[in-house]
Amino acid sequence: MRTRNATLLTRYDRCDRCSAAARTRALLPGGNELLFCGHHARQHEPRLREIGAELSPDP
Ligand SMILES: [Zn+2]
Repeated sequence: MRTRNATLLTRYDRCDRCSAAARTRALLPGGNELLFCGHHARQHEPRLREIGAELSPDP
């Protein structure tokens, strides 16, 4: 079985809130994932942790 490296972001990955390059992947409890740039990762981190999301790597 092939496992995907969940922490590997490429330059083709873009922040879901703006068009900057993604730096952090947020894995939501429901299985969805969101990508954030450094700026938005910091901005949304408190809320994401509150709902139990896993951030990788940590912003
Ligand atoms: Zn952003």
